[in-house]
Amino acid sequence: MRKIYKGIPVSSGIAVGKALVLADQETLVIKRNIPEESLETEVKRFQAAVEKTKAEIKEMQGKVKKEAGGKHSGIFEAHLMILSDPMLTTAVEKHIRADKLNADYVFANAISGLIQSFESIEDDYLKERASDVKDIGKRVIKNLTEGKQETLADLKEEVIVFARDLSPSDTVTMKREKVKGFCTDLGGKTSHTAIIARALEIPAIVGAQSVSLQVKDGEPVIIDGLLGIVIVQPGEEDLKHYKGKLEEFLKQKIQLSKLKDLPAETLDGYKVELNANIEIEDEAKFVLKHGGTGVGLFRTEFLFLNRKDLPTEDEQYTAYFLAAEYLYPYPVIIRTLDLGGDKFLSHLGLGREENPFLGLRAIRLCLAKPELFKTQLRAILRASELKNIKIMFPMISGIEEFHKAKHILEEVKTELRKKKQKFDDAMELGIMIEIPSASLTADILAKEVDFFSIGSNDLIQYTLAIDRVNSNMAHMYNPLHPAIIRQLKRVVDAAHKEGKWVGMCGEMASDTAFSALLIGLGIDELSTAPVAMPEVKKVLRATTMVAAKKIAEDVLRLSTLDEVKAYMSIVNKGDCKYCK
Ligand code: PEP
Ligand code: MG
Repeated sequence: MRKIYKGIPVSSGIAVGKALVLADQETLVIKRNIPEESLETEVKRFQAAVEKTKAEIKEMQGKVKKEAGGKHSGIFEAHLMILSDPMLTTAVEKHIRADKLNADYVFANAISGLIQSFESIEDDYLKERASDVKDIGKRVIKNLTEGKQETLADLKEEVIVFARDLSPSDTVTMKREKVKGFCTDLGGKTSHTAIIARALEIPAIVGAQSVSLQVKDGEPVIIDGLLGIVIVQPGEEDLKHYKGKLEEFLKQKIQLSKLKDLPAETLDGYKVELNANIEIEDEAKFVLKHGGTGVGLFRTEFLFLNRKDLPTEDEQYTAYFLAAEYLYPYPVIIRTLDLGGDKFLSHLGLGREENPFLGLRAIRLCLAKPELFKTQLRAILRASELKNIKIMFPMISGIEEFHKAKHILEEVKTELRKKKQKFDDAMELGIMIEIPSASLTADILAKEVDFFSIGSNDLIQYTLAIDRVNSNMAHMYNPLHPAIIRQLKRVVDAAHKEGKWVGMCGEMASDTAFSALLIGLGIDELSTAPVAMPEVKKVLRATTMVAAKKIAEDVLRLSTLDEVKAYMSIVNKGDCKYCK
């Protein structure tokens, strides 16, 4: 039966195809339909995997008992008890038969439900048991898949992916040729998953409530990444409508691509630096394809995801050098590691945090692990021989943190000089302004850095206290809040007073609804998703700097979000009094 769902559109485009549904698990588990005649074999496969897991646990228990004595082996008893509980195993068998689904998927979802129940218990001891359940889940799934777990990079057919949530590392492995679009129940517009979807130009919707539980494997679906609409079992009319909409979308893309070689310049001749955000060095190609003149943000942490070890200095050097060489003579701003938050790396041995966005993230992690930081800095410095690389530190909260990070950079430079290793000694060093404590002290920071780049994604999150990946709060995440606009003005003024330039690399810079306001506030550089560059350029080329400044002055006088929204909606309709 035809059904329509609504979510948050995060990556434009239309996709028509077949659904591939993933279970709610850290590891990738695909939902598959099982024919009636194979259901008993599927149940037996599940029972065998449970028995195998029990045998493995007993073996480990024996080993630990021998080596460390009986007191530590209790944990295994608990694991065995969970696996022998018919509430879990019988329920899974029942679901396999009733829903005619694969054991991996049914079991993964059952485990996920169990984890959530444990996590919601107030008692700390019982809360901790959630990690035991996770552990068991992983073991049984490994045995069910015989260790040959699929990834989104292995897909053989074209699909539209549905999942409760997708991590940025899952998303970055997607192949554009196979994944025509995706839709998740959770997530916000500036989550790194959404950012990657735009980078890969995959139509995507997030925050679509519980659609992943409703849609069936292989069902025909349409994803409208422009409006955030998902249609399951579309009818003839839908297919016809979307065929036309897709043609229109592609036509517009071709029109926009004609702007590629024109400058990002206002009608009255003000030139805006228009750069791109990239996550992997390969994306450098998209920058030129979409008419960019450099990289305003290279999110280097993506080199660290989806692998079991850390990238070596040489691997990092190669990635940075290739991007800089490909884009030469254009600038490439390399942001040092921003791991943490929604980009978690289990093999750093840091453990999960209660509030990862407020935890050991980005520069804090680098300062806590100086060797990790130094390796990256060495790789960046070595890659700078063409002199078009700049370094930028993320999540700087104040001048002391900047001093600490800069001190380590100086140590690495001294080391390289001793080794007679060439690097660009005059390389610019900037920081991201994405924490209110940095914007409030921008006057102090501006004296010592070469440039600022405003990370609006985090600046909004930390100023308004809205988790950027929480779909329930997405309606309150608004870049036009007066608290944000005032901070932007403050940061620009502080930088310009010291003769420094200011960019913006958060998603606010990619949204054409804000382009005039941002340049009117004095932002010198906009760094956007490659795909957004032509649209932003088009808007800039139809604006005058005189009007943009007046718009910014007016907006700064408004006191409520609703007033700013109403004012900007008039501007974006082209009806503002300065736009005539
Ligand atoms: C930002 O916070 O705006 C930003 C560009 O960094 P990231 O999205 O990687 O946190
Ligand atoms: Mg950020």
